[in-house]
Amino acid sequence: MKLYLDPGHGGVDPGAQGNGLNEKDITLAIALKIRTIILNDYENVQVKMSRTSDTTQSLSQRSSAANAWNADFFLAIHINSADSSAQGYEDFIYNGLTDSSKASKYQDIIHSEVIKVNQLKDRGQKKANFHVIRETKMPSLLTENGFISNKHDAELMKDSSWQQRVAQGHVNGIAKAFNLKRKATKETPKTTTTTPKTTQTTTKTVYTVYVGSYKSKENAQDRVAELKNKSIKSSIVSTKISGDTWYRVKVASYTTNANAEKRLKEIEKAGYDDAFIITEKTSTTTTKSVTQKPVTSTSNPATAKPTTSTSSSTSTSTSTNTTPSNSPKDTPIIANPGQFTILGPTFLSPEQMDQFVKKVNPNAPELGQFYQTYGKYYGIRGDVAFAQAIHETDYFRFTGVVNPGQNNYAGIGATGGETRGASFKNEEEGVLAQLQHLYAYATTKPLPNQYPLVDPRFQLVDRGSAPTWTALNGKWAVPGTTYGQMILNLYEKMIHAG
Ligand SMILES: [Zn+2]
Repeated sequence: MKLYLDPGHGGVDPGAQGNGLNEKDITLAIALKIRTIILNDYENVQVKMSRTSDTTQSLSQRSSAANAWNADFFLAIHINSADSSAQGYEDFIYNGLTDSSKASKYQDIIHSEVIKVNQLKDRGQKKANFHVIRETKMPSLLTENGFISNKHDAELMKDSSWQQRVAQGHVNGIAKAFNLKRKATKETPKTTTTTPKTTQTTTKTVYTVYVGSYKSKENAQDRVAELKNKSIKSSIVSTKISGDTWYRVKVASYTTNANAEKRLKEIEKAGYDDAFIITEKTSTTTTKSVTQKPVTSTSNPATAKPTTSTSSSTSTSTSTNTTPSNSPKDTPIIANPGQFTILGPTFLSPEQMDQFVKKVNPNAPELGQFYQTYGKYYGIRGDVAFAQAIHETDYFRFTGVVNPGQNNYAGIGATGGETRGASFKNEEEGVLAQLQHLYAYATTKPLPNQYPLVDPRFQLVDRGSAPTWTALNGKWAVPGTTYGQMILNLYEKMIHAG
């Protein structure tokens, strides 16, 4: 099956704008996620895209390319705009088509799959005379995924896990419409060359939802009892982290990130803000010599009974944790520091961040809120940026060259010796500058414009040169061959703090 994906707008054409967002960025993010998911999970699919980055393409370039390639289906991704009260999802086929056309049939299926997961108001299935659905020779559909002009919808758009769900909904629809065959398994048997007959390891990714992590087993038991009162089943899993034993309260394991996130949301709704997901690679080895250690204590997905019902088409997938090439993982997987991206969601609450620091420095300023807010806005892992600040400022004790009054939490422009670096007018601006500086390294995209540029060194950064934390080694900190690892070690401690 040949799928042509057309993320709307791009380059000089930002599309609709509102609430600090450009349509072209959201459409591209969703389309890239669709591509990743469908190529990962289904057999015999080819994907072409009108653009895979922020480039300008005319409408006729898009339709001509799809026609020349002889695509089986053309899918255009757009974001709507109107007055601020309009909200919701709708999709369009060409208005010259009847309800018995193939496009109309595909619209029925895809519409119902997308609306299941996108948390948007259903505005219905529609017809219109748009260029790309008129001029393409194959069945085509244009989806309008919420209103950028509406606060509720725009808030969702900023969230990469929402983009992921929307992408998954589109994929579920296409898979159904075209009867795509799911890849049998993502398990990858590995045979070592040294002992080919005795050591065979099969790895599998599992997404486990935890609610709290404690150093005291009693506290963990209290939590389990409390959860039981709310009809949430849980168990205690002990794990060793840098020599210390921690007791984590585990709710369930899932084979897809989407299902784990769904459960996480439910737990949060029940009043727990310390729930988190850990991505674990579990391995089964046929000999006693385990060649790949699980990240944490092994959880057995077979015995974990997720209590949430899942939509049928996603429940068997083993790999939906897919994002654009610049952010390969959505959840903490510190097992693989080299791949842990700067862009991504923030898992820790502002209180968790502040409390972590105050255990070491009770006089530390409370900056967690700023890291969460700006992290979310720029799509950066705010809690890891917070860990970076802890590392840079020595738990905000400022034992290096930067003075506390500078509000410079990441040593921007401080090159050592007597060079104290930049100063910011208040705490909030200091955090903003740090996140903008991270944004400059993490992506080549233009800086979203809701907040003024306060990072004095933004233009000096080799844009997009460090998509991961470890790629900052030798860039943010010179020489700094372990800079990123130290940040991630701190972040891991923060995650496991009870
Ligand atoms: Zn558009």
